[in-house]
Amino acid sequence: MHTFDSLLAQITPSAGPTRDITDPATGEVVGQAPIHTVADLDAAVKRAASAQSDWAALGHSTRSELMLAAADAIDASAEALAQLLTREQGKPLNGPNARFEVGGASGWLRAAASTPLDSQTVIDDGESHAVLHYRPIGVVGAIGPWNWPMMISVWQIAPALRMGNTVVVKPSEYTPLSVLALVTVMNEVLPGGVLQVVTGDREVGARLSSHPDIDKLMFTGSTATGKAIIRSSADTVKRLTLELGGNDAGIVLPDVDPAAIAQDLFWGAFINTGQTCAAMKRLYVHDSVYDAVVDELAAVAASMPMGVGTDENNVLGPLQNKSQFDIVSRLVEEARASGARVVMGGNPDADGPGYFYPTTLVADVNNDNALVQEEQFGPALPIIRYSDVDEALAMANGLDVGLGASVWSSDRDAAREVAAQVEAGTVWINSHGGVHPMIPFGGVKQSGYGLEFGVEGLKALGVPQVING
Ligand code: NAD
Repeated sequence: MHTFDSLLAQITPSAGPTRDITDPATGEVVGQAPIHTVADLDAAVKRAASAQSDWAALGHSTRSELMLAAADAIDASAEALAQLLTREQGKPLNGPNARFEVGGASGWLRAAASTPLDSQTVIDDGESHAVLHYRPIGVVGAIGPWNWPMMISVWQIAPALRMGNTVVVKPSEYTPLSVLALVTVMNEVLPGGVLQVVTGDREVGARLSSHPDIDKLMFTGSTATGKAIIRSSADTVKRLTLELGGNDAGIVLPDVDPAAIAQDLFWGAFINTGQTCAAMKRLYVHDSVYDAVVDELAAVAASMPMGVGTDENNVLGPLQNKSQFDIVSRLVEEARASGARVVMGGNPDADGPGYFYPTTLVADVNNDNALVQEEQFGPALPIIRYSDVDEALAMANGLDVGLGASVWSSDRDAAREVAAQVEAGTVWINSHGGVHPMIPFGGVKQSGYGLEFGVEGLKALGVPQVING
């Protein structure tokens, strides 16, 4: 069991080049991350390759026991991990934030450890006999983003380990400490070489995606990087799971009770201060309830405190980095200049420390505005008026991404009919963005391909082999 100080001490490099990691809420230095090179990555892949056959040979039940023990280790150091996550990523301890994320990390690990994946007899009719098995793939590379660094790393690591693969993780250069700490805690119980972290920049990521001894790559990040990975993985015909960017639409039908849905609408859009892949990033509201929905949403938003994450009262934090802050600022300014109505927020404090951007609602904005068309990935929600559900569907489906979406209605069956017409990997009814370790999750269009979680997620970390005869 770690304290914040003992955890930080354990992940602080004793030798080699390092760089300072700063707290996005205060600008203070949190700690030092090692600067790993392509040579370090190659050495890690070699260790992972030599550890893989012994790990696979342990069998499902022993691997599962070790993974459950790793989940216990995370729980034992949960508060130290949450403190570090808050300091590095910026998200508050409370609300659906740092403590929630650490709990999700151990929860997903347990779910992957406990989910059976049996071989499947596909035919046995006296003439033919064929059984589909899932064998380990080998060494899996995992490249992650900075928004949910611990949880998303576990989404990639857990099914890979469960299926008998070894893993080399490359965290985002913005949040290396969180992933180093998580893996350090897990490695208190896992055998050596099975799970390693290499911190590094895009060059290290690019090497991972072209490495001849990486057999599968799990990638979560932007669509642009996903496209680069597809290209650089082509020569080795690497298997890929790509969870890429989104621009999720919410469609509010005319029969809603605005006060009843306002809180769920708020968290659907503003969880992790909007820095969430499957957050609601554009909201289409029927004309008949438009003003009431905007008013109720603004009332909820005004009640949600934003500030330094170590303050137990806050539930919203800063943007994680300057470039994300600049993207959100630019998009809101462009919307304002186009004549859209900034209902609340929109004026960040230029003098204060930290990348705080206030909770912002932008109403009466045109669908062709950049705040609607581009992924803002921050706390600024455009709300678009519509009068006909087909028009709302056309706008929702009009982009080349499709991660999640939501439909809001008092009539669940009517909502399901609309949901079936939305081009997205998941369409939630009367909520947005909730994930569950047993419910498959993945995008369509340029939001990527491959499924994570549950049985489908385990299959994605195995090589299918048919024994025919
Ligand atoms: P990013 O694509 O900039 O970086 C992600 C990771 O890719 C980082 O670790 C980075 O070092 C690495 N990388 C950069 N260039 C690379 C290359 N050429 N080859 C290999 N790796 C490379 O993304 P980000 O800004 O960290 O994350 C935000 C984006 O991620 C948003 O678009 C968001 O929607 C998306 N996202 C998607 C999901 C999902 O499940 N679909 C979840 C979280 C975030």
